[in-house]
Amino acid sequence: MESCVFCKIIKGDIPCNKVYEDDLVFAFDDIHPMAPVHFLVVPKIHIPTLMDMLPEHANILLALCKAVQMIARNKDVAETGFRTVINCGDEGGQIVPHLHIHILGGQSLPFEKL
Ligand code: 5GP
Ligand code: ZN
Repeated sequence: MESCVFCKIIKGDIPCNKVYEDDLVFAFDDIHPMAPVHFLVVPKIHIPTLMDMLPEHANILLALCKAVQMIARNKDVAETGFRTVINCGDEGGQIVPHLHIHILGGQSLPFEKL
């Protein structure tokens, strides 16, 4: 989707600190980290929100989870633990309308809005 900031990052039109990529998913460090480790894992296709996930996206959901596991190991938070957050829609605090999983770790996390 042309106006989508995450689609632009995936295409390489906006720079990012990429941490992982395969044929289905892309992952990069959040530009405004809320914890020592804070990265985002996104599907390469433009799915606006969690509410737009369909049964045919099952392979993407699995790929997102596998990417989270792999990057968490690479960033040394697999053992210490981390938080995953998916904001959905306006009241859920979703700013970028391209489905993304926040992964936060590297410290004990208070419960707060992202
Ligand atoms: P949301 O509130 O939609 O769940 O979170 C969007 C996240 O994307 C925010 O944490 C924000 O810092 C991050 N973000 C927004 N624009 C950019 C960008 O251009 N580059 C990177 N790396 N992160 C971004
Ligand atoms: Zn997009």
